[in-house]
Amino acid sequence: MRTVYLNGEYIPETEARVSVFDRGFLMADGVYEVTSVLGGKLIDFDGHAVRLERSLDALEMRSPISKEDLLGVHRELVRLNDIDEGMIYLQITRGAPGDRDFVFPDPETTMPTIVLFTQNKPGLADNPAAKKGIRVISIDDIRWGRRDIKTVQLLYPSMGKMMAKKAGADDAWMIEDGFVTEGTSNNAYIVKGNKIITRALSNDILHGITRAAVLRFAREAQMEVEERNFTLEEARNADEAFVTSASTFVMPVVQIDDAVLGDGTPGRVAPRLREIYLEESMRAAV
Ligand code: PLP
Repeated sequence: MRTVYLNGEYIPETEARVSVFDRGFLMADGVYEVTSVLGGKLIDFDGHAVRLERSLDALEMRSPISKEDLLGVHRELVRLNDIDEGMIYLQITRGAPGDRDFVFPDPETTMPTIVLFTQNKPGLADNPAAKKGIRVISIDDIRWGRRDIKTVQLLYPSMGKMMAKKAGADDAWMIEDGFVTEGTSNNAYIVKGNKIITRALSNDILHGITRAAVLRFAREAQMEVEERNFTLEEARNADEAFVTSASTFVMPVVQIDDAVLGDGTPGRVAPRLREIYLEESMRAAV
């Protein structure tokens, strides 16, 4: 039985209760973060805390907790649940005003709801999928226009994963105006020769915390990085491809729809970046 954190309390998961009037439940009016844990320590915590503030600001939501206290809660949950490898999920919603209304409640009287829980994932860093690479399908990107805000409205990404599953693939890359935006829960990259190509930051994609770190490490390792749009066609003809996220780190992609990349194995760049990312981020973990 897990211990979870709800509105200031550490309680058993079976005792954690949120109101039916919570706007997270009724309107997906909430934001979230996922931070991975390796060796009992938090990976990229600072980046996730900064992006959380940004998401809250964009939705005019007040933060119910300081960054220092948030770090304390993450660490306490790792300790209480004895997590060596896994994830911490955090969600903040606009709270439960006691009725359903499109208008935002008064923040003086309706406090945000904050929930954190752990997900134990032994072997997270040693994921066998990273050795084989994953297969993705392409689907239309029909999400809303503020994908840079990490909201809990994840129905379409969830449908995208199901479309992939039904097609016998692992994930889906989303396409808008012929260009790849991102994966259902990760940022997308292709490799051409020695060049790493990924879409530039805008409202069209989530500003991945893993993306920021991986691009920094790539540049430090003298790899060439180009932040620009790339088409599905370009991706299908790439030498390599990969995705990044807090829970998968750097994951090679070996097939896009029916196009097999290179010889159908992970290649050179993505596995090297995974190695560097894991090494550097574990060194910097808190
Ligand atoms: N893009 C989308 C749509 C995501 O949902 C995620 C993670 O959940 C990412 C990218 C990767 O972001 P991060 O590296 O911060 O986990």
